[in-house]
Formats: sequence, C-alpha cells, structure tokens
Amino acid sequence: MFRESIQQMTGYVPGEQPRGTKLVKLNTNENPYPPSPKVVAAIRAAADSGLQRYPDPQATAFRMRAAEVLKTHNAEITPDWILCGNGSDDILTIVTRTFVDQGKSVRYPWPTYMLYKTLAEIQGVRHEAVPCEPDWTIGYELTAPSPDLQLVYLANPNSPSGTLLAPGEVAAIADALECPVLVDEAYVDFAETNCLDLVRTNERVLVSRTLSKSYGLAGLRFGYVVAQPDVIAQLAKVKDSYNCDTLSIAGATAAIDDQAWLADNVAKVLAERQRLDAGLQAAGFVTTPSSANFVWATHPSGQHQAIYESLKESGVLVRWIKHHGWAGGDDGLRFSVGTPEQTDVLLSLLATC
Ligand code: PMP
Repeated sequence: MFRESIQQMTGYVPGEQPRGTKLVKLNTNENPYPPSPKVVAAIRAAADSGLQRYPDPQATAFRMRAAEVLKTHNAEITPDWILCGNGSDDILTIVTRTFVDQGKSVRYPWPTYMLYKTLAEIQGVRHEAVPCEPDWTIGYELTAPSPDLQLVYLANPNSPSGTLLAPGEVAAIADALECPVLVDEAYVDFAETNCLDLVRTNERVLVSRTLSKSYGLAGLRFGYVVAQPDVIAQLAKVKDSYNCDTLSIAGATAAIDDQAWLADNVAKVLAERQRLDAGLQAAGFVTTPSSANFVWATHPSGQHQAIYESLKESGVLVRWIKHHGWAGGDDGLRFSVGTPEQTDVLLSLLATC
C-alpha cells in the first residue's frame, strides 16, 4: 500500500517542543523574545477584516515590502525575485520538488540540517552527505562532477556548527557545480555576510530565508526564497496554491517592515551569544565560533548525553546531536542563545554538572 521508500524512512524528528512547561528552552534555535508588537497588531487587524476569503496566493504585500528591504544587498531584487512559503521548510520542499527527478541525486555537506536528507528520501532520490573536516571546513567532494546531481543544499550559517562561508566561497562552490545550489540562510541575520548578491550573477543560486529565528516568529510559519525571476516562475508551479495564510502574510509583512526591531533584537542576541560562548568555555567545553543564534560545543569528557539529560532534569532543554561516524566526533551539544537570565540558569547548572 505504501511506497517502499516511504516505509523505509525513519522520518525527520524535529526538536522537542514541550507545551505548557516552565522549561528553559534552548533546543530549537527560536528567538527568546516575542516578535515586534507591530506584528501582533497586524495579525489582529487581518483577523478582524474577515477570514472567509482565500489568502493572496502570491503573498504580494510581503514580497513588495521584502524587495525594498533586500535591495540594500542586491539592487536588482523586485517582488518577482521572491516566493513565499509556510516556513523555510516549505521552501526547501518546493525547491526539491522543482529540481530533482526520481532516480537522481542531491548533495549536502555533513553534519548539517537533517531535513535535507528527509526531503531526498521523500522525493525518492539518492542523497550524498559529504563529510566536513573536523573543523567544519567543507569537503572538496561537494563539487565533484556527477551527471546525476541535481541539487546541492548549503546551510549558511550551518547548523549545528554555526559556521559561515564567505560569499566568495559560496560563489566558488556554485561556479564549480552544474546544478542549482540552495543557500539556506535561516540564521543569516546573526551573521556578518549574506549571499543575496550571488543570485544576481548566477541563476543557479537560490537563497532561502525564514522569519522563525531573527524575527521571533517560529510559531507563525513564514519563509521565502530569493532567485532570478525565471527560477521563481518554475518554483511557483510547484508550491501549494495557498501555502501562506492571511494571518501569516499580514504578520510577516509587518515583521519585515520593522527593521529597527530586527536590529535591536539581533544586537541583544549577539551580545548574549558572546556571553554564552565564554561561559561554555569556562565550563570546560570546546566551542565553535558561531555566526548564528546558537553555539555548538563538545566536552572533552564525551559525556554529552549525560549532560543533556542532567540539564533536562533540571528544566533546561538543549539539543544533543549525534553524527555517528564523523571524523569531528560522534556527538555534541547545541545551545540556542536565550535571554541573559536563561544563560545564567544554564551556566550555573553546567558549573555543577
Ligand atoms: N534551515 C535550517 C538550517 C534550520 O535550522 C531550520 C530550522 N529548523 C530551517 C531551515 C527551517 O526553519 P523554518 O521552517 O522554521 O523556517
């Protein structure tokens, strides 16, 4: 009854999302702060104006506002360079379905965001995880020629490492490949650089973004992709007709409009990231310098599972991530940046672990 490939899948397991608890939640890289008040006001106004009509299938209001904001990085961006999705996971699905034929293959550096593998499995295609060096440098095999290769996923900054490739490095990867490259910039607002300008010069580069992290809107489900208009036109054929709803379009438009809120929030998160990193090092961890809103850390004891469980018992949820067989180590812990109070709780527990 089921497709063989679906039955064999383990399926993507998202991070724990406990409800109604007082946990210090530092496991899924959400923003510790609520979104701009303008977002909530816009959602209320949209709800008051009636929900009996279908939403705008093109999310035009968002795309118009986003194009203005993104122009500072790539002057050519207009609304027809943007396609919106129900979170960037939806964008990743649309991109996979648009480019990858059954029997062909996708590739990504590894360790990285596990959804890429899941999307390949659902699509029924081969997935090549190209191991990074222990210091998270990208393996050269990522660009090895292959006639079957139809898509490369590149999380930048990467998760769980928080490491960032400079635009020149991403350009070199894209130029060396004959297939499209999806640069997943879910965490880019916390980074020093972004790859939006590469989209202008290379039509095989697509950049995806989300409002889940830097805009504090993981619960709203809104993401988008920037690519040349010819590419966007093909992606538009694949997306669900109404993949973004009236409330999320209104909220997302207000969010991207409030760049002052974004700048203030990012500054707070970056200050706390520095304190978190220093605190983890003081607690004996080896940390990886992060360009995102989380810090990847390993402990010389190798007792990551025990530390994860002990923290959880004390009400602090972090992410224990296994990448068995990787030369950089079998596992480690990823700590999302929280509020200063949450960092205090975490660091005081780690001092006694
Ligand atoms: N890309 C990366 C690298 C992520 O870590 C995440 C968050 N889990 C996403 C994309 C998806 O984010 P969302 O669907 O909330 O936009």
